[in-house]
Amino acid sequence: MNNTMSVIKKVAIYSRKSRPDETDETLKRQLAFLIDKCVDNNWEFEVFQEYGSSQDSNRPELNKMLEKIQSFHYDAVVVTDQDRLSRSTVGFHQVKEILTNYGVQLVTSSKIYDYATQEDDLMSDMQSIVAKQEYLNIKKRLVRGKRQSAKEGNWVGGKTPIGYLYDHKTKKLTPDENAPTIRRIYELYLSGNSSTEVERIFDLDGILTPSGSKWNKARISVVLSNPVYKGTVIYGKTKVSKVEKKPSGSPKQLRADESDQIIIDHAHEPIVSPEDWEKVKDIREGRLTKPPSARIGKVIFTGLIKCGLCGRTHSFQRRKGKELRVTSCQTRYYSDDGEKYTVCKNKGVKLELFEQVFFAKFGQFVNELELYLEEIKQNIKHDETNPVDEKAILTANIKKIEADIKKVQKGFIAEIYTEDEAQKEIKRLKVQKKYVEEKLKRLDTKSKDEKIDELQGTLNKLTSLLEGTSDLETKDINYLLTAIIDHIEYKRVGDHKAEIEMKIHYKGQ
Ligand SMILES: [Zn+2]
Repeated sequence: MNNTMSVIKKVAIYSRKSRPDETDETLKRQLAFLIDKCVDNNWEFEVFQEYGSSQDSNRPELNKMLEKIQSFHYDAVVVTDQDRLSRSTVGFHQVKEILTNYGVQLVTSSKIYDYATQEDDLMSDMQSIVAKQEYLNIKKRLVRGKRQSAKEGNWVGGKTPIGYLYDHKTKKLTPDENAPTIRRIYELYLSGNSSTEVERIFDLDGILTPSGSKWNKARISVVLSNPVYKGTVIYGKTKVSKVEKKPSGSPKQLRADESDQIIIDHAHEPIVSPEDWEKVKDIREGRLTKPPSARIGKVIFTGLIKCGLCGRTHSFQRRKGKELRVTSCQTRYYSDDGEKYTVCKNKGVKLELFEQVFFAKFGQFVNELELYLEEIKQNIKHDETNPVDEKAILTANIKKIEADIKKVQKGFIAEIYTEDEAQKEIKRLKVQKKYVEEKLKRLDTKSKDEKIDELQGTLNKLTSLLEGTSDLETKDINYLLTAIIDHIEYKRVGDHKAEIEMKIHYKGQ
């Protein structure tokens, strides 16, 4: 990281309100913090501060900054966190494209992102998902009346799901002309087709979504897992933490317990019978929770499981002739005289049970990621800056400088230059050459398509892991999980029947 910090010389500070509950005072504090950071690091800086709304649509300062980035003014952009740049995943993707193409790094209060490397790319994509969800949550919190409305079985879930129409008079959903397509997805799945096979069948039949997109596997999975189709309304799937905060001071978003959610069955006319919906759920969960360790036989969670009570890393053991287990926590608490001790109360568990809980949770995350990638693929505008042209220009520049160096050398031989003059000139040209070469190196990152392919590749690996069809080696699976997951908080306290409590902490969150 220190290495990266040293190449940064000139930066742009970007600041704006990105949440409805932020005051001018918070903004001022943020700006002061960012300026301090630049002064500490000896960075020359320029400030771009947006006034007014937190909406993405009207942001003159951002545009001004992006323009200057494209004429190579800055080495980095400094923000409190990534979601300052854009609240929408699509908008964020566009900003990121420009940063990538112009080799500009993104410095946040917690981390430096260099989008030229794949891991950061994946992390930032995930962060923008998280930030988006959090924003939606704050919006939800502000409209408290919605909860009451939901209790009455009204549709308050936002976007109307495909297959339904929202009736403004009754505030309920009614099936529309797309309902048969939804029913067909369920029927195909129940008769033994996987969502990939449903995708293929719809593709062959030329069936598209109402907005004209392809019915891909991710969309089909969303339909299959949405209880709205059995007539159920769920409100409040996520909640905002009162305790945990992100570095920016904003509250962290958590998945709500089922007891905090408003779940109303028979809220509107179902498209699929509740019995069929539950059958689909069983099939889906059977697929998602198939423990890969049964086949792999080794541990893929090495170093990832942390005690929810004391934070110690759990290890694994196999008692003679028995199944593989996550060990109980070994932390000892000594009495004041150091004579006696008690051991941390966190119990171990069969690895198989641990995996079932883990893969059910992780499966949801991968689903979200998959949807997000689809959204990017559908929505990115064709990029006007062509890295290939840019590359050609820089390559030509290098050739010209090389030719100039030769000219000076020849000039020295022909006694046009003195030795001193020639050396000075050559030195100057070499510095220039190195500068252009570095620019070229930064530009020499992968194309957008290649990056999407890479992210898709990672997703495919995760999906086959979830489906139990992965052919990766144990250590590669561990490597893959470690690239995405910071740690898995695990807690199981009580008698032998105690349930597993688990929270997956993803990197960059
Ligand atoms: Zn412990």
